[in-house]
Amino acid sequence: MTVTHVVGAGIAGLAAAVHLTKAGRKVALHEAANQAGGRCRSFLDAKLDRQIDNGTHLILGANPSLFALLNAVGGRLVAQAPAAFPFFDRQACKGWTIKPSKGAIPWWVLNPGARLPDTSALDYIGGWRLMKAQADESVAQAVGNGEMLERLWGPLCEAILNTSPEQGQARLLGEVLKRSLLKGEAACRPYTAPEGLSAAMIDPALDWLQRQGAEIRFNHRLSGIDKGELIFDDGERIGISQMSPAILAVSPWIAADLLPALPRFETRPIVCAHFLLPKPEEKLPGGRNYLGIVRGLGQWWSLRGDVLSVTVSAATGLAMETAPEIAAKLWAECALMLGLPKEPPAYRVMKEQRATIAHTPDAERLRPDVADGPPGLFLAGDWTNTGLPCTLEGAAFSGQRAAQHILLS
Ligand SMILES: Cc1cc2nc3c(=O)[nH]c(=O)nc-3n(C[C@H](O)[C@H](O)[C@H](O)COP(=O)(O)OP(=O)(O)OC[C@H]3O[C@@H](n4cnc5c(N)ncnc54)[C@H](O)[C@@H]3O)c2cc1C
Repeated sequence: MTVTHVVGAGIAGLAAAVHLTKAGRKVALHEAANQAGGRCRSFLDAKLDRQIDNGTHLILGANPSLFALLNAVGGRLVAQAPAAFPFFDRQACKGWTIKPSKGAIPWWVLNPGARLPDTSALDYIGGWRLMKAQADESVAQAVGNGEMLERLWGPLCEAILNTSPEQGQARLLGEVLKRSLLKGEAACRPYTAPEGLSAAMIDPALDWLQRQGAEIRFNHRLSGIDKGELIFDDGERIGISQMSPAILAVSPWIAADLLPALPRFETRPIVCAHFLLPKPEEKLPGGRNYLGIVRGLGQWWSLRGDVLSVTVSAATGLAMETAPEIAAKLWAECALMLGLPKEPPAYRVMKEQRATIAHTPDAERLRPDVADGPPGLFLAGDWTNTGLPCTLEGAAFSGQRAAQHILLS
């Protein structure tokens, strides 16, 4: 049987490999690193003596491609039902919980107990403006400046697009709102990985592929693409053609190195600080094991046992500071709110400098399609034109789409 080659074992490459294998293809997956997962991975941190993730990932029910992958391989995510999103405003010292409605009509905006305090239903017109925005409008331009930008649309933009509201494309954020808040509670339901991202998603996918006879080659870096051949750093060459196509599922900056005709995207960092608490905790203020912080520095807190993880997206300024500076600043907020000592406990600061591309209107125009590579090479990855921001769902969708092109070609 001929082998279909997939390069890159992040979520996009894994989704492609699983899709092809399910369809009866023999697959070889080539990964440059010594582990799979790419920008979504866990590791044992020696200092904390805990399994931690490179960054907290928010996964919602509205992720059909990701769940197709996880259902196929026996992934292990846990639903937090019913969907509810507690927030705390550091400036106003007020908390609230957004409770999405069961069905598609967002009745929650009519319910003062399910929306932001001191707002009226009319204030949520910004959501409609995001969905109807022109391609060149930023989030701030679409919704206008003011409290709703600061307290709702801005934080959502940074969390979902990893781009500031002044730069993030309004329409892309609107698309995510359409697929989540406008689909009802189940689509908004957050899913967590109690034992980490790798245990929940990456390891089950690798195990499943291996059981099905796929070949997985770690430390096997693609170093060039030339005259219809994939050239690996150990000298191996694999021919590709329309009759024998392959999938390139590497990160965007690597794809642009390998194929200079592709756009070189600006990227944005995400900073995540993991703190070891004195004892395991079950809940954060607001009653869940996650909490959104508005008008503070840390934007998203999440709790796993005795590890509190604080995430800052679109963290261009913060990512330039040292780990002790970042830990001190982020912990100061946690200590104050949780009534813990001011001195930071043991911590690990992860700076993912190129967490995602910057989702500006200009960048959105440039995202390539699956068939924009050279003949016989289909493109996958969260940065391709998926209609979604760079997310696990976008990555899984892109991998399955590339695999489907091969199956139909
Ligand atoms: C800190 C952080 C927080 C995030 N939070 C969220 C979130 O809350 N929700 C969400 O949905 N998404 C989130 N994301 C985004 C999500 O992680 C990515 O969209 C997704 O993991 C991208 O997958 P990918 O397969 O497209 O790319 P990658 O993960 O970049 O995978 C590419 C793979 O290709 C390999 N590779 C690179 N070069 C070569 C080569 N030359 N030869 C062979 N292999 C190569 C890499 O090692 C890697 O394994 C977050 C990302 C980060 C970094």
